[in-house]
Amino acid sequence: MATKKFKTEVTDLLQLIIHSLYSNREIFLRELISNASDAIDKLKYLSLVDGDLKGFEFDPRIDISFTEDGKRTLTIKDNGLGMDEDDLNNNLGTIASSGTKKFLASLTEDQKKDSNLIGQFGVGFYSAFMVSEKIEVISRKAGTDKAYKWTSDGKSSYEIAEAERDSQGTTIILHLNEDGSTFANRYEIESLVKKYSDHIAYPIYLEYDKVNYNYEKKDEKGEPEKTSEHVVEQINTCSALWRRNKSEIKDEEYKEFYKNNYYDSEDPLFYIHTKAEGTNEYVTLFYIPAKAPFDMNYADYRPGVKLYVKRVYITDDDKTLLPSYLRFVRGIIDSEDLPLNVSREILQENRVMASIRNGSVKKLLSEFKKMSENNPELYAKFIEQYNRPLKEGLYSDYANRDTLLELVRYHSSSEPGFTGFKSYKERMKEGQKAIYYITGGKEETLKASPLLAAYKAKGYEVLIMDDDIDEIVISTVGEYDGTPLKAINKAGAMDDLKDGSEKSEENTALIEKLKNALKDKVKDVRISSRLVDTPAVVVNDDNDPSAQMQKILKQMGGESMDIKPILEVNAASPLIKKIEESSDDEYTAKLASVVLSSAYLQEGIMPEDPAAFAKTLSELLSK
Ligand code: ADP
Repeated sequence: MATKKFKTEVTDLLQLIIHSLYSNREIFLRELISNASDAIDKLKYLSLVDGDLKGFEFDPRIDISFTEDGKRTLTIKDNGLGMDEDDLNNNLGTIASSGTKKFLASLTEDQKKDSNLIGQFGVGFYSAFMVSEKIEVISRKAGTDKAYKWTSDGKSSYEIAEAERDSQGTTIILHLNEDGSTFANRYEIESLVKKYSDHIAYPIYLEYDKVNYNYEKKDEKGEPEKTSEHVVEQINTCSALWRRNKSEIKDEEYKEFYKNNYYDSEDPLFYIHTKAEGTNEYVTLFYIPAKAPFDMNYADYRPGVKLYVKRVYITDDDKTLLPSYLRFVRGIIDSEDLPLNVSREILQENRVMASIRNGSVKKLLSEFKKMSENNPELYAKFIEQYNRPLKEGLYSDYANRDTLLELVRYHSSSEPGFTGFKSYKERMKEGQKAIYYITGGKEETLKASPLLAAYKAKGYEVLIMDDDIDEIVISTVGEYDGTPLKAINKAGAMDDLKDGSEKSEENTALIEKLKNALKDKVKDVRISSRLVDTPAVVVNDDNDPSAQMQKILKQMGGESMDIKPILEVNAASPLIKKIEESSDDEYTAKLASVVLSSAYLQEGIMPEDPAAFAKTLSELLSK
């Protein structure tokens, strides 16, 4: 037997782990199971490729057992590749990974106290010292007939001695310390395996004594008879569904998996299973729920995507795995390249994660787009649920704006249901300069807007943007596929409709008269070239928000902006003619105020002083 000192960096690492990860010490089991699964992966691989172990046969399994009487122990056993004496020295006596070594050396004393930083590298095997006063590792490497036992208290040294083991693999016996003793418990182990290791690809068995009560047979005290039975039970579902080949998975299996894991009784609308290879290797399995998750529009929504690293569960509570506008997506990201102990803070900055996120977003959006082209019926259902978050994406995800522009849908002045920019463009008329839209109210109100008439007359379609976020979002867009987007309820849109036949002389006298009558209630008065039956409309200066938008911003707690509209009047309308002809200032003022209030009403906005409006109106009518 030889006693060896740990390399100093191992002692450092042990101290670091114990201090920074202690509150989360249950992760040790995940680490050990993950190591066991890796060792099985390796042996499986070697049994398939040319070499000494080619054709090696074994039935992969991981076994967990524990003792609860007297000294408590917890044993994790695998039949993977195993380790010989050198391996034990190299793997459990030093820090194997040179990256970890460098990282550790670069940490300042302050950083060493920061558990988030510690999470950046695989703490692995050593984490078991958080719950153990002594650890024994008995291992036999596949293809050899000698076994060795590594023993340490995790302080400064370890011993290696020859040992016995029937076949290849590794047995890790944890002699639990006081804080670790709670882990020698059937329910504790089962729940940790469920939480962290359910999707390990190999079966994990738990060995325990099951107590049975026989209620038919009672003792003198009337207690049911107790018998104990030794059982070995598989405790993981072992169904890393997403790791299997797409072609081998039935539609039913995908759906069952979704329903069992995402608390939904309904089948998903659809799912996307992708294996990415190249610089980064990862698998994603995404589901789109048939109904939008109930908390989709809450700021504190629960994210729906779980992160795994090599089938080991890492987190389901990270809002940065996908951008927030895709928060309705459910599913799994399983990376081959991330470190197991990747923490939340690290995830946000991690390059591998950033590339997985970008790839996932691109994949999701391109699948949505394909669906919009190939399966309009399904897409209609999708849009009914998720149009709004996609519009948020238009605002927040500049890099994918072009694709998102193909996905969002709006009502239209000429089409039933929803339509998109692409089909709008296909329907555009000769000479039409822009994609027209109107914002700032409910669908019915917008569709009834007198502004629409002139566009309808020319055969121009107008998109009805009635979602309250439309105005903010669309104002950041500018154009679609080279064609400008124009709000018809903005002053500037009027020019587009002019075809040169309009009277060119401006009716300055009328404009002055209205301006005087309305004073600071309007920003400007203009003669309209696009109103048919209506005396006037309120529009906004090109860069001003609509009145409806101002109302929303104010409701959201913003300050009142008090931006005045531009009154666009139809000089041919009898009411405006009356104003033009009137020489009574008081009468003119009354007429003008009714014109302005009515223009607001058309937009669904109440006059500031409804009583005064009603009074003026009845005075005018009874005259
Ligand atoms: P990591 O798993 O991140 O490499 P660990 O400290 O957990 O770091 O393990 C160090 C090394 O010890 C592993 O890379 C592996 O080579 C070896 N090892 C650990 N557990 C086992 C096991 N159950 N079977 C075979 N080798 C193992």
